[in-house]
Amino acid sequence: MLIEQENSVKININAFQHDLISWFKNEQRDLPWRKDQDPYKVWVSEIMLQQTRVDTVIPYFNRFIDWFPTIDDLADADEDKVLKAWEGLGYYSRVRNLQSAVKEVKEKYNGEVPNTPKEIAELKGVGPYTAGAILSIAYGIPEPAVDGNVMRVLSRILTIWEDIAKPSSRKIFEKAVRELISHEDPSSFNQALMELGALVCTPTSPSCLLCPVRDHCHAFFEGVQTELPIKTKKAKTRDVQLAAAIITDSTGKIVIHKRPANGLLANLWEFPTIELHHPIQNSREYAVNLFNQNHEFEIKLEQTIGQVDHVFSHLVWNMKVYTGTINAKFQETEEWKLVSFEEMKEYAFPVPYQKMFKLYQSL
Ligand code: SF4
Repeated sequence: MLIEQENSVKININAFQHDLISWFKNEQRDLPWRKDQDPYKVWVSEIMLQQTRVDTVIPYFNRFIDWFPTIDDLADADEDKVLKAWEGLGYYSRVRNLQSAVKEVKEKYNGEVPNTPKEIAELKGVGPYTAGAILSIAYGIPEPAVDGNVMRVLSRILTIWEDIAKPSSRKIFEKAVRELISHEDPSSFNQALMELGALVCTPTSPSCLLCPVRDHCHAFFEGVQTELPIKTKKAKTRDVQLAAAIITDSTGKIVIHKRPANGLLANLWEFPTIELHHPIQNSREYAVNLFNQNHEFEIKLEQTIGQVDHVFSHLVWNMKVYTGTINAKFQETEEWKLVSFEEMKEYAFPVPYQKMFKLYQSL
């Protein structure tokens, strides 16, 4: 059987499936989520792997499954503990959505992850890629699982010159996968495409000479493998100037604050932080005034101990870091706490605040 694209690209589908899947079976990495085909574990791993490297995900995945081994465990868990398990992975809405969706699975589907494209796609945070990955890997259903990685690989094999940054391009690649996918082993087929993108057909220097599907690859025949995929650049990120402080009381306890329930890093914990609206105002006096206007207690800033820069997908935080003390009575609330070093381990802090705390500890 042959697949034909707009520009007359042809490929022998049976031979392609065979070469791809045999390579995967021999060469696949030993990853903890591949030990069984439990849909819950596949789901957790796929959510973690969005925007995060495999090496980073492995210890997080092991700990997450250790803390929440089943759908019921995650559905019933305290949100603070779930955020703690995700601490440092970033994109925290991923885990909030995962927990909401798991609750729905517990209530509506008796704790069984649904196995139809329609039901699974209705779960919170489950986009077409994750749905396809769960359906194919855990249930052996021939559904496409197309992410940027798979689009890169297929754009080369089939010489597809569409811009993969455009949301509408995904459909073109999903259609191609529907034609190419093995109906005998969709699980290995989809995983093999992902593995090929991770190990061989990498973004900047594809290892074509070692590639198991080189004989099928039209970009290789034409020598255009490094020109594909077409991907327009994202909009520039915005710089945000912040001042943040490790503020202690007379006993050495530290003031921490729970971020609002919506927006960036929602419900995670931070050290008191304010935005400096103009870099020229980035002076201690200006920062103290802002802190005291914005908070119910009064603080005194002492040393500047450094700067923490952190890049999010759409903005960059340039955070000037101070130490300070509280010089008026501090009332604990749900959002404001005074905690010891030991107690801090119970709270989930995003990476910029972890960096900030390391800076403080190195003093
Ligand atoms: Fe990618 Fe090269 Fe293999 Fe083609 S031959 S799929 S460009 S690694």
